[in-house]
Amino acid sequence: MWRSSALDPAAIERLKEARRRLDLKPLVVHDNYLINMAAADRSIRARSIAAFRAEIGRCLAIGADYLVFHPGSYKGQTLEESIRTLVRSLEEAAEGLAGRRLMLLLENTAGSGSAIGGRFGELAAVRRAVSRNLRLRIGYCLDTAHCLASGYDVASAEGLEATVREARRILGLSRVRIIHANDSKAPPGSRVDRHEHIGRGYIGMQGFRRILNHPGLRDKAFILETPIDREGDDRRNLLTLKRLCRKSLTTTTRSS
Ligand SMILES: [Zn+2]
Repeated sequence: MWRSSALDPAAIERLKEARRRLDLKPLVVHDNYLINMAAADRSIRARSIAAFRAEIGRCLAIGADYLVFHPGSYKGQTLEESIRTLVRSLEEAAEGLAGRRLMLLLENTAGSGSAIGGRFGELAAVRRAVSRNLRLRIGYCLDTAHCLASGYDVASAEGLEATVREARRILGLSRVRIIHANDSKAPPGSRVDRHEHIGRGYIGMQGFRRILNHPGLRDKAFILETPIDREGDDRRNLLTLKRLCRKSLTTTTRSS
């Protein structure tokens, strides 16, 4: 929904205290899924800018490290126009807001319909177009299921190498701060966004073992966005990822 409630200062303090005590980092926020700052429709765009501004404000208040957002959809415009719209919206949303810690992370998409961000080049174009008026840094979040569905074959060894190479060249690996670890129910290149439990989709156990242990990716923060069909699925998916990390240390040799 569009409406959001104000943050309770006491809750913010409890969060900060818990993070210190448990050494929890980074703190990553995902923006509201209704937000489409690239929208040609003026009222949707205005609502999106206001909602995103509120997201930034809350992130600054709670001391978040990253705010992940989707580039949006370009219905009714060309891709180039929509990227200009998005950049203007971003600058408006963040006007007068600054934070040294917070970084905005553009997430790649499955490239379905008129979604922007199915190609790394589209994400980089947004970052390049942003002016110095925006006083927050921009980086990237890569979603493994979106990569596969949009045509980056992260399931195979060669495909993963090619994808990391392209991410390094086009985005800069140091700007890729977060990986959304999701298997894909939809086949490679299908441009359909459907998340699956780790190991049960088209990426598979071997695919995730390579992704988690890739020298260019292994130090990133991984976040699960897998389905919860039964209670405990989130915990099970997390354990699967942890097992795949450990396993590779003893049973595989790394290739460059
Ligand atoms: Zn995601």
